[in-house]
Amino acid sequence: MTSEAKPSVRKCGPCTVCCNGWLRIKVRRATISPGKPCPHSGCKGCDIYEFRPEVCVKFKCAWLKDPRSIPIWMRPDKAKVIVRYITWGTEVPVLAAIPVGTKIPKKAIKFLQSASTQYGIPLVMFERFKENGGYKPIMSVTAYGPPGMEKVFEQIREQIKQIEYMGPM
Ligand code: SF4
Ligand code: SF4
Repeated sequence: MTSEAKPSVRKCGPCTVCCNGWLRIKVRRATISPGKPCPHSGCKGCDIYEFRPEVCVKFKCAWLKDPRSIPIWMRPDKAKVIVRYITWGTEVPVLAAIPVGTKIPKKAIKFLQSASTQYGIPLVMFERFKENGGYKPIMSVTAYGPPGMEKVFEQIREQIKQIEYMGPM
């Protein structure tokens, strides 16, 4: 996505959402998942920063990667959603939105739906559910997009679970 806004270089700053379990990842022997933050994430940031896994080095959410299109208020720790671009062999990129918690807040949904319509790109939005004080392993997915996007959603159907994992898309 692009807009007329001037490009800028963003930094994660105080956001540590992708280290806090809202994306699944294995770091050394630890499995990081909703409710289970990375044990290396502390108040001073990553305590193995120089030696963090490659997947951590390479990961950039859409907020970090695309300041032209994703507004400043959508920083994941503030907007309570992580947005990713998926390009798994699809003709157009797909926007994927993963909640920080259970649900994506309405303000963020409104922005994402309007971006999907404006740029003509499909959007998939996830929702988590709580169970016994934790999170259920399965999330629900809602697809949104311009007419004719069913083919694209069909293309990513098999890989949809991978969106929750930090890793290349
Ligand atoms: S979710 Fe995005 S902004 Fe936040 S720490 Fe991860 S890469 Fe940085
Ligand atoms: S190893 Fe460091 S960068 Fe990677 S998830 Fe853990 S705290 Fe974050």
